[in-house]
Amino acid sequence: MGGLGGPPRPPDARSRPGQAGAPLDCPRAAPALLEVRDLHVSYGSIRALQGVSLAVPQAGIVALIGANGAGKSTLLRAISGVVRARQGSVSLLGEELVGLPVHQIARRHVIHVPEGRGMLARMTVLENLRLGGLAARERRDPAGDLERAFALFPVLHTRRRQLAGSLSGGEQQMLAIGRAMMARPRLLMLDEPSLGLAPLLVREIFRIIPRLAGEGTAVLLVEQNARMALQCAAHAYVLQTGRVVLAGPAADLLAAPEVQRAYLGAG
Ligand code: ATP
Repeated sequence: MGGLGGPPRPPDARSRPGQAGAPLDCPRAAPALLEVRDLHVSYGSIRALQGVSLAVPQAGIVALIGANGAGKSTLLRAISGVVRARQGSVSLLGEELVGLPVHQIARRHVIHVPEGRGMLARMTVLENLRLGGLAARERRDPAGDLERAFALFPVLHTRRRQLAGSLSGGEQQMLAIGRAMMARPRLLMLDEPSLGLAPLLVREIFRIIPRLAGEGTAVLLVEQNARMALQCAAHAYVLQTGRVVLAGPAADLLAAPEVQRAYLGAG
């Protein structure tokens, strides 16, 4: 498998998709932005993550795919501090995040857009966007940040005085991403951004995500639409019952028969 010039080799990942046990051939290059090592998270007796390791390079898109209940959302929650890891490490450029409260992690520009988007429905679009900047205590250039959010999603400018709760699903997703961008994320974690959206809006969201990555934001993308996620990511991981079972360049996973069968609807 060709190497991706980014993530270091996760210890539990496997080489060619489907080849159990062989190491992932992924050379070390620039230090990863985020390194997750042997992460374990439980909800009571439910072991949602059972030793997950992965890496996100300093730029580009890493996709995380897997069936319902595989632990994808839990991984994002653990990285952003919403749930506590029982064991393991999450390191941001060498700094340990496990144990830090959510607001401290956000202040390090690790920004999570949860599934369901987390809008404040009774606040206006503008107020929601401004709150996004506060999450990371980002006050350097709020007007410039607003302009950038409006440039990404012009509809948010049109709707800026409307209550967030009155937006369509697609507009709410744009607001959620726009709000996250107000915090100038180093790492943007998107949980199911296409969920519930019409195909045209899904395409719009998937047009924007590579643009964000192209502007220097590292993106960790959880998606039920595995095909689109693998098409826009450089590297990908497949999670199954709390474990990474496959990892590699996204193009290789896209072509792998077992990924096609399990996640891309091939016969
Ligand atoms: P989905 O796409 O359905 O959201 P997922 O891959 O994101 O799936 P998680 O939501 O992380 O998976 O769930 C992983 C496991 O943890 C599942 O067994 C799920 O039922 C369980 N789980 C998730 N959240 C909770 C919670 N708050 N309390 C108890 N169990 C939970």
